[in-house]
Amino acid sequence: MRITILGAGVIGVASAYWLQKAGHQVTVVEQREGAGLETSWGNGAIIHVSSVQPWAAPGVPLKVLKWLGQEDAPMLLRLSALPRMWRWGLDFLLASRPAAHQAGALSNLELALLSARSMAEIRAETGVEYDCATQCVLKTFADDETLDAAQAAHLALAPHGLVTERLDREACVAREPALGPVSHRIAGGLYFPQDEVGDCNKFSQGLAAWCAARGATFHYGTRVRGIITQGGRVAAVSTSLGEIESDAVVVALGSHSPSVLAPLGIQVPVYPVKGLSVTTPRSVWPEGPRMAILDDSRKFALTPLGDRYRIVGSAEVADYDTTPSPRRIAALMRNVGELFPQLALADSAPGAVRWAGLRPMVPNGRPWIGPTRIPGLYLNTGHGHTGWTMAAGSGRRLAGLLGDRANEMAPLA
Ligand SMILES: Cc1cc2nc3c(=O)[nH]c(=O)nc-3n(C[C@H](O)[C@H](O)[C@H](O)COP(=O)(O)OP(=O)(O)OC[C@H]3O[C@@H](n4cnc5c(N)ncnc54)[C@H](O)[C@@H]3O)c2cc1C
Repeated sequence: MRITILGAGVIGVASAYWLQKAGHQVTVVEQREGAGLETSWGNGAIIHVSSVQPWAAPGVPLKVLKWLGQEDAPMLLRLSALPRMWRWGLDFLLASRPAAHQAGALSNLELALLSARSMAEIRAETGVEYDCATQCVLKTFADDETLDAAQAAHLALAPHGLVTERLDREACVAREPALGPVSHRIAGGLYFPQDEVGDCNKFSQGLAAWCAARGATFHYGTRVRGIITQGGRVAAVSTSLGEIESDAVVVALGSHSPSVLAPLGIQVPVYPVKGLSVTTPRSVWPEGPRMAILDDSRKFALTPLGDRYRIVGSAEVADYDTTPSPRRIAALMRNVGELFPQLALADSAPGAVRWAGLRPMVPNGRPWIGPTRIPGLYLNTGHGHTGWTMAAGSGRRLAGLLGDRANEMAPLA
């Protein structure tokens, strides 16, 4: 089949890999000058099988309301965004019920575990380099109460394949000596042996080049204008380069998926939730952490990534704006500086990059992967805070649905 994939973020590129492997003729259309340059550029770089629980969870809606209007709150809902997203908000509320949250966590874990296996296969087959490191993710907690609650939530997923190890303060320091001087600030931590670290942008670019060298076509600097149907099924994609005839089309446009689908009458509840990162040379603190540290109470992640550190945090519902707000960057750096004073000014070090990206969030936190009611039109979108974690498995699952199992699944939209 001639399959056109819209978007060359990590999801579009992983889809291209698996669809090409299944024998299809693949074309990818991307508005930027290369792969992985939007949300897949500056994310937290953690393949965190351990963090696939949907954000919609018991107690979260109340916290969001409490933080309304607080500029430096970890999760900020701007009042200006409310009129456009009341329906999304209502669905988020429903998805926060305990049973719905647990169902989302289980379904995401299954996909994340498939992804982890798929990543290992892709690495072995392609040799793509992306600063990959394994067995190096630790979440720290300020008090026993929150640590107990987090451990209980993770243990509920243990029968389904999630491995978690609880560490006391001393064991945390033994795993990550950089925590030594600040060990009085943590009660302990959870260590996740299945999690990995890697540069999502490098992976996307490397895998795209690998696919291109084997016959896939990547049209960079090319904007998708719309999807053309004929006789009720997909026929072509209209782009700034002209029309591309297609037997099937995969929409992998991240937060921008809804605007391309809406003219066809297909509504997907993907809404952008902005996050921030600072990427800074590792030389700012050469003796710093070797493990990725997620700090629960200060809501940041610090990821050693090749010769850089990446510091990540913040969730802001503020439409499609991708300007990193100075005030929220300052709040992020303040939080990091509280635990690691050596990094308090890392955002102004020579070579540091401040960045913002849009998590493509669906209310129940479960990505939309599969067919629509228009024959030939498929979705691979809505991966929210775990798109890097789930990319390899999402592409594989989609390729399965486009093959022999094409008629097994009911349309998603
Ligand atoms: C701060 C932050 C931290 C994160 N940390 C992690 C993490 O540690 N682990 C994890 O698993 N996930 C993380 N994520 C989430 C992850 O980055 C995303 O889920 C993932 O990158 C989404 O990939 P995507 O391919 O769907 O979207 P994108 O990477 O945004 O790709 C969509 C592509 O579509 C293109 N496009 C859009 N419109 C058009 C058009 N009209 N024509 C042509 N092209 C178009 C865009 O240019 C873009 O390249 C984080 C996200 C943020 C913001």
